[in-house]
Amino acid sequence: MIPADLPTGVVLTNAYVQKLPESLFNLEAPEVAVLRLDKLDPDISGNKWFKLACYHEELIQYGKTGMVSFGGPYSNHLIALAKHCKNNGLKSAAFIRGNYFPKLSTTLQQLQDWGMELLFTSLNDYANPNLLKDRFSTQFQDYVWIPEGGAGVTGIKGAGLISQLYPLSNYTHIGCAVGTGTTMAGLLKEATAQQTIIGVSALKMKDEQSEIKAMLEGIATDAKFEFFTAFHEGGYGKTTPALLNFMNRFYKETQIPTDIVYTGKLFKGIFELIANAYFPPKSKLLLIHSGGLQGNRSLPSGSLNF
Ligand SMILES: *Cc1c(COP(=O)(O)O)cnc(C)c1O
Repeated sequence: MIPADLPTGVVLTNAYVQKLPESLFNLEAPEVAVLRLDKLDPDISGNKWFKLACYHEELIQYGKTGMVSFGGPYSNHLIALAKHCKNNGLKSAAFIRGNYFPKLSTTLQQLQDWGMELLFTSLNDYANPNLLKDRFSTQFQDYVWIPEGGAGVTGIKGAGLISQLYPLSNYTHIGCAVGTGTTMAGLLKEATAQQTIIGVSALKMKDEQSEIKAMLEGIATDAKFEFFTAFHEGGYGKTTPALLNFMNRFYKETQIPTDIVYTGKLFKGIFELIANAYFPPKSKLLLIHSGGLQGNRSLPSGSLNF
């Protein structure tokens, strides 16, 4: 069910489906289209608003007045959360991984300008969110606690709204970038038996150790999924000249900007799969542009042509 009372702040009708040219990279490609969730809002882009939507519902249900969460110095999630709270007249706070005071990253400065309270946290403390939750339970008793990246059951439910707001059932394969796996889980939960959800991991992990894969296996669904862990380009937030080169070429051909952390790796990975004839003929692919270009701010200027 779509919550009757979706929070405000983004214009859902700004998102659209963009078909990619058939001749892209001279591949005998299946039909490929991109759901441009990056167009929802310049700041709350992509999947993040959806993950927050059901946390927002909880906030109303429990009569809370703020949101508190966790993130690193270039977090798309915190940017979305801070702006969302600003738009809706809510308080916001975040535990930041590491101490960046007084030299704030552009992202952290932006968060502060939108009124978010920043709590710089040692790597040790950050690794134990439950302890932080206990220690700060009084200070943040009027806030809903949101896991890093907007993950959790509530985040999955929110991400599932993507398939209710946009017609996804025409596609045989739906591809998305994976951080916490929340978005992929939400899409998987709502997909049909004829569909396969393809996830491309932004993190380096051993396939067999993957908690994300276990989480996905636990989702009740008729659909299939494939989780690819080989396209991480060195690990979370890491880049390679090949990735930057792909992102620049992709932008030139499609006018679609991507980011080094998530969507660059998604599109590059999918095109490698296409080149290896992974998709059966007549497949119809929809790739979710999950937005979030914050990571590109960590690059030297001039690295990208957009
Ligand atoms: C946060 C983010 C993701 C990861 O989403 P999960 O639900 O955590 O897997 C993917 N793409 C972009 C652009 C993001 O900002």
